[in-house]
Amino acid sequence: MRAQVLTAAGSLLAAAELVVPRPGPQQLLIEVRACAVCRTDLHVVDGELPDPKLPLVPGHEIIGTIVEKGESVDRFRVGDRVGVPWLGWTCGVCEYCRSARENLCDRARFTGYQIDGGYAELTVADQRYCFAIDLRYGDIEAAPLMCAGLIGYRTLRMAGDAQLIGIYGFGAAAHIVAQVIRHQGRRLFAFTRPGDLAAQQFARSLGAEWAGGSDQPPPDPLDAALIFAPVGALVPAALTATKKGGTVASGGIHMSDIPSFPYHILWEERVLRSVANLTRRDAEEFLALAPKAGIRTETVTYPLARANDALADLRNGAVQGAAVLVP
Ligand SMILES: [Zn+2]
Ligand SMILES: [Zn+2]
Repeated sequence: MRAQVLTAAGSLLAAAELVVPRPGPQQLLIEVRACAVCRTDLHVVDGELPDPKLPLVPGHEIIGTIVEKGESVDRFRVGDRVGVPWLGWTCGVCEYCRSARENLCDRARFTGYQIDGGYAELTVADQRYCFAIDLRYGDIEAAPLMCAGLIGYRTLRMAGDAQLIGIYGFGAAAHIVAQVIRHQGRRLFAFTRPGDLAAQQFARSLGAEWAGGSDQPPPDPLDAALIFAPVGALVPAALTATKKGGTVASGGIHMSDIPSFPYHILWEERVLRSVANLTRRDAEEFLALAPKAGIRTETVTYPLARANDALADLRNGAVQGAAVLVP
């Protein structure tokens, strides 16, 4: 099968012809129909996350069709369409798994990081971490739901019942979360790279009542802020824009160092927190909500062979919505 493979951190992906993997007892062999490109893929390729499997097939926002299944598979049938997310396996016995926090599992393994992912014609995935996808979504438009949607949704949950929410970084996750915020009847402000008028216009088209640069103060103080850009300087900016008692939640797996900031912008019970990974419950909740809320995704497609171009465009902020590879 054709695949795009990372052989060393910091290098470009290389086209490769790999042996088709065999599904284990709990695994599905999946023909990949679409795989969205996540910023986490960039962090893996750039060597910003420790100890990836090498060589590695990246990609953890997979939509595909089951072509074969292991002997213990009982949740799906051959021919079913499934989505495969970042969370690929958990131990089930550590303190986190036993307390509904499998996203923090001590031994968790992640798709497209420790497990080969979806930048390929075929992939295998553990059925217990795969999900049915609503028929209202095509393969390509469903792919960004699998991480931008799921982890974006988990990040939004950390905002509690905040009414006015600011989003910093208006990429794939933000364009989905914005629709959830508006569906819930809440107010949205969007902060983009300074001067990125196209992203600001995109945010307004998805219901942001104000959109500006991340160097600008919002017209009203925020009840909560969600950070989706990997830029540490956004943390003090978001704290400064957020009201007393408000939460600033960072949804990314990596960001540049956070500059030092005066205590008074955190004081008055502002909460600063990160979001790590997802639980299967997050996926079930979000994948049920998305079609009901009419969530649509905007995608830019690339053939599998152009995976490096998709990553470069993501790095340069040149993708409106989500980049999706199509084998
Ligand atoms: Zn565990
Ligand atoms: Zn991701």
